[in-house]
Amino acid sequence: MTLSVAAILAESALRRPDHPALVSGTRRTTYRELWDGARRYAAVLRARGVGPDDKVALLLPSTPHFPLAYFGVLALGAVAVPVHALLRADEIAYVLRDSGAVALICAAPLLAEGGRAAAAVGTPLLTVMEEEGTEDGEGAGAAARRLDVLAARSAPIDRLVPRDPGDVALVLYTSGTTGRPKGALLTHLNVVMNVDTTMLSPFDFTEQDVLLGCLPLFHTFGQICGMNTCFRAGATLVLMPRFDGPGALDLMLREGCTVFMGVPTMYTALLDAARADPRRPALDRAFSGGAALPVAVLDAFRETFGCPVLEGYGLTETSPVVAYNQRAWPLRPGTVGRPIWGVEVEIARAEVADRIELLPAGETGEIVIRGHNVMAGYLNRPEATAEAIVDGWFRSGDLGVKDDEGYLSVVDRKKDVVLRGGYNVYPREVEDVLARHPAIAQAAVVGLPHPVLGEEVCAVVRVRPGTAPGPDLGAGIVAWSRERMAPYKYPRRVEFVDAFPLGPSGKVLKRELVARLSAADQAPDQAP
Ligand code: ATP
Repeated sequence: MTLSVAAILAESALRRPDHPALVSGTRRTTYRELWDGARRYAAVLRARGVGPDDKVALLLPSTPHFPLAYFGVLALGAVAVPVHALLRADEIAYVLRDSGAVALICAAPLLAEGGRAAAAVGTPLLTVMEEEGTEDGEGAGAAARRLDVLAARSAPIDRLVPRDPGDVALVLYTSGTTGRPKGALLTHLNVVMNVDTTMLSPFDFTEQDVLLGCLPLFHTFGQICGMNTCFRAGATLVLMPRFDGPGALDLMLREGCTVFMGVPTMYTALLDAARADPRRPALDRAFSGGAALPVAVLDAFRETFGCPVLEGYGLTETSPVVAYNQRAWPLRPGTVGRPIWGVEVEIARAEVADRIELLPAGETGEIVIRGHNVMAGYLNRPEATAEAIVDGWFRSGDLGVKDDEGYLSVVDRKKDVVLRGGYNVYPREVEDVLARHPAIAQAAVVGLPHPVLGEEVCAVVRVRPGTAPGPDLGAGIVAWSRERMAPYKYPRRVEFVDAFPLGPSGKVLKRELVARLSAADQAPDQAP
């Protein structure tokens, strides 16, 4: 079979036709049904003129339509462009224009934004209905664009369009936590190598595994590490379109999930849920990535759920996994483990932009990556590509340090470092300490403008249920921090929130926190 991302599903459909690939609510879809459905979607797209190398945008939540459309597009040799489901019409229009998508496949509940974006750019629209979703209007126009209905009446395409390993499979837009989204071009080889490597280790997926699919499928972590790796192994993916702690706990119990994969905010939400609910799913292992997992949270999760928690590191541009803790090696909580097979990770001098100057073990610098996982470049952005890929190394924009045994620690994003009175404060390090405070459920540390120091360290805190936030607790946290951290780095200011602003993959949006707090400082009567 051709080496392509579509072959991931095609091959498992040959090997495990009757095994459940997907669970969505009460609906179970076998591998045969899923691949058959994807080839029907492909037939409709082909009839509309979609062919190899055409880009097709997908605005779909985590329901079965996502894999049907994704693998349908890829089966034609076309390029899938998943769009973050929370984007507004203008932002979607930006992605449609930038990618030059020949069609947008949009779920009915997202049509208000997606339809406006498609109309503004002139992109042909195809829709799918969610099981419990809203209607896509009435009349012949609406019926003619119903991809799911048309697919049910079409014969599946009979063969996978072959691809070269270096052909682009996906355009994944970086989530924009730190700026305007850029489309990372991932080749079939990038994705297939990452999937095959990580399936074996660290994820260790087998056909018996059942993975909770609570990470959004449009994001690299949920899509490549979750869905694709699970399908490659012939395991079962239990879809959860909207994550919440109690719901996730319930679903894992009901479906017998063996693997949990999430970003740190999901870990804290599950721990909150577990305090109120004594039932425990029979998890065999859990994987964290996407942001730093405080060691206190890792330990609490391991004790509460009785399974190892493995943290790793990756980026959209590196397809995505770079390094992971693996069960075969001694686990080092607080590190992201060692590079996966076939990938080199080094630390380079961060201030030197035009070349790569490698640093020895123990020194902090920018994490640089070389190997089968590095993207082909950014779509339409030769300058950004040249800045990001230097001498064959991808510059991550993250600061890190390697120890003598090759374990990598992510110190922080270069852009998040707080410069307080000439000292560098790494928010991640402060957050790790704060996570041990008994009243704190979650903390995010940011730098706020300060007239003398340049920036001041501020801890934004969500307290545990049953704890009252207020000035006394704030002062208590400051005093507690002063005892545990050097004078230049402990937070002098504590702000409380009920919930953090989260990006599409569930990561805390620090940029937004800073904007809110700065706005509140200018209008002191208003809460942040
Ligand atoms: P953008 O770069 O567009 O602002 P983003 O950074 O959220 O968005 P992603 O590709 O989703 O884009 O995330 C990659 C980033 O996530 C890494 O550069 C790193 O900063 C962070 N990250 C991933 N895993 C970890 C980890 N284990 N510890 C700390 N940070 C991590």
